[in-house]
Amino acid sequence: MYYKYVVVGAGLAGLTMAERIANVLDEKVLVIEKRNHIGGNVYDSYNEDGILIHNYGPHIFHTNDQEVYYYLSKFTKWNDFWHRVLTYVDGNLIPMPITVETINKLYNLNLDCTQVEEFLKKQSVEIKDIKTSKDVALSKVGQDIYGKFFENYTKKQWGIDPAELDTSVISRIPIRYNRDTRYFNDKYQGMPTHGYTKMCENMAANKNIKILLNTDFKEVMNEITYDKLIYTGPVDEYYNQKHGKLAYRSIHFEFETFDQEEYQEAPVVNYPNDYDYTRITEFKKLTWQKHEKTTICKEFPGAEGEPYYPFPTKEWKAKYGLYQEEMKKETKVIFIGRLAEYRYYNMDAVVRRALDAFEEFIK
Ligand code: FAD
Ligand code: UDP
Repeated sequence: MYYKYVVVGAGLAGLTMAERIANVLDEKVLVIEKRNHIGGNVYDSYNEDGILIHNYGPHIFHTNDQEVYYYLSKFTKWNDFWHRVLTYVDGNLIPMPITVETINKLYNLNLDCTQVEEFLKKQSVEIKDIKTSKDVALSKVGQDIYGKFFENYTKKQWGIDPAELDTSVISRIPIRYNRDTRYFNDKYQGMPTHGYTKMCENMAANKNIKILLNTDFKEVMNEITYDKLIYTGPVDEYYNQKHGKLAYRSIHFEFETFDQEEYQEAPVVNYPNDYDYTRITEFKKLTWQKHEKTTICKEFPGAEGEPYYPFPTKEWKAKYGLYQEEMKKETKVIFIGRLAEYRYYNMDAVVRRALDAFEEFIK
């Protein structure tokens, strides 16, 4: 079977690419997906009680990239959603990220913004050369807050000490000297009004796009020829792990439905120091669905299972570098997305990468 364009993976990276090829170039494109659905990790679906859940953990769209926001807005409307998170620390639910509200609640104080800035500056540890996620946290909030909010959550999430993770991981979490308790800073934030799967279906709604579900690329690769392959799966798998396996962090998601309208005070509650899970999401608080029952999801991180998070450490980046050398030699294959580029990308960054790669290599 010949297709000029073949895409491996029907996640946001693969679908953005397929959509551009189909709509802009008016060319046929084959998308091969090993799961039984499109959307990759942004996939959402209605469970047996009729509650819309995010099957691969809570997904909140947020970006400063106007072009990406406008691009996705062609396929969905958005509910204006400003994500908020509470963290369970010392028996209390405290707003996360660290803001004036966090400090006042944690220490039972009543400081204003300037006083909180002074307070945190006093707590902070002077580190000349900030090299790790631990350095980032200590230099901004000091030992006590680091220990209560960051250290154990990070150990649970990654299975290693924050001192081994590069600065980008904990830097994802803003620290604010004001009362803004939203989880993200970005200008555009929202939830697709009819869900991510619907948005993805709209992206793929073009007769030029043919999607093969339940199909592992490895099993059909010898039967398919192409001019260009866009590969969005794990890069080490593409090369049969010739430089060894890359580590990806996995998560086991446990869903529970309760015969009550509401479960917790916020869409997401983090548990840095208690239990084996990192956080609990209550989906109705993300999607604004009305329902007499409610479904939650607990996330248990681990080393085994589906690859969800690339490892932002020196060691693993170096190993990925070996694969990058292989990738540079390819003339027909483009690697994009969180797994293929081994980058801790958010949704908007993945769409940006696909839009750019389309302009640069395909168009
Ligand atoms: P994926 O979505 O992983 O898609 C890759 C696809 O390729 C998969 O469907 C896979 O089955 C398929 N595939 C792999 N190998 C093969 C093969 N050999 N043959 C055929 N198909 C194959 N981002 C945000 O912006 N906001 C959030 O709130 C957020 N929350 C997240 C929470 C969790 C728990 C996780 C894990 C991620 C979260 N993200 C969030 C990140 C977001 O999920 C990713 O940025 C985005 O989905 C990556 O898209 P992708 O297409 O690169 O990869
Ligand atoms: N983090 C933390 N405590 C928290 C929340 C996050 O230490 O309460 C750290 C942890 O290392 C985590 C990282 O910040 O992996 C990024 O958090 P984010 O919420 O962005 O994670 P994601 O939604 O991508 O899993």
